[in-house]
Amino acid sequence: MRIIVCLKQVPDTNEVRINQETGTLIRDGVPSIMNPDDKNALEAALRFKDEFGAELIALSMGPPQAKDVLKEAMAMGADEGVLISDRAFGGSDTWATATIIAAAIEKIGNYDVVFCGRQAIDGDTAQVGPEIAEFLNIPQVTYVKNVKYEDDKLEVVRYTEYGEYVFEVASPVLLTAIKELNVPRYPTIKGINEAYGDKGEEKIRVFCIGDLVVDSTQIGLKGSPTNVYRSFVPVKNKVSVIIDGNGSKDKANTLIMKLSELNLI
Ligand SMILES: Cc1cc2nc3c(=O)[nH]c(=O)nc-3n(C[C@H](O)[C@H](O)[C@H](O)COP(=O)(O)OP(=O)(O)OC[C@H]3O[C@@H](n4cnc5c(N)ncnc54)[C@H](O)[C@@H]3O)c2cc1C
Repeated sequence: MRIIVCLKQVPDTNEVRINQETGTLIRDGVPSIMNPDDKNALEAALRFKDEFGAELIALSMGPPQAKDVLKEAMAMGADEGVLISDRAFGGSDTWATATIIAAAIEKIGNYDVVFCGRQAIDGDTAQVGPEIAEFLNIPQVTYVKNVKYEDDKLEVVRYTEYGEYVFEVASPVLLTAIKELNVPRYPTIKGINEAYGDKGEEKIRVFCIGDLVVDSTQIGLKGSPTNVYRSFVPVKNKVSVIIDGNGSKDKANTLIMKLSELNLI
């Protein structure tokens, strides 16, 4: 079994700051981490490696420093890393990102499972996984809460607010992980030594535009069909009101009065 896990390097914060002039994210001074849902995807893949000896390739698209998430993945147990990096890919929206990642997965080839996180904490669209599956023309199951491999079949539990669905899926398949899937392991000391040393560096391949079969009109800023009109952090203007009164009945009456004044009831 060969598993490709897509890992995005994201800023370690939910407090996104935006440059008001350019509308882009301010990344300076914000440390980067592996996107949390992607760590759950990686852990699920590592368990397949532990149980069935699956081969595990960690893949990330981003600037050269995105190698860090690949090294972290190798320290946790991934066999090798692929970094997709080229200036031509800059400014890609989700369509273009998925186009490029799908082309890299085609180049790697012979995969059984592509694992993604459900959602990245910076872009937050949850579009890239499903788009990759569409471009690869393979089935997909999103919001994966549990996955088992038995008798050459994958049994996948999909979690939704309405209930859980159990699917039996054939490979190749793309799955997107949610945090309920598992608790990711820590890297081992041996893994850290290997991944962050020369050995780790040798195990990372870098794909640039010339390595991939992609339509240049579908990638980068020009190939991105979405236009960001404006980015901003919403102003928090909530005011708290404490309702006083003699006992709960009195307080409830005051609350009803206030809500009806605001036409809320
Ligand atoms: C309209 C628009 C314009 C944008 N313009 C720019 C821009 O100019 N410059 C810029 O830097 N960004 C830009 N972005 C952000 C960039 O497109 C997204 O970061 C990227 O497409 C991933 O989308 P997401 O963060 O919503 O990921 P999601 O769809 O939420 O991610 C789901 C999963 O897909 C996988 N995944 C996502 N991205 C990667 C990756 N890079 N490598 C490996 N796996 C990945 C991960 O497993 C992740 O958990 C733009 C986004 C939009 C919507």
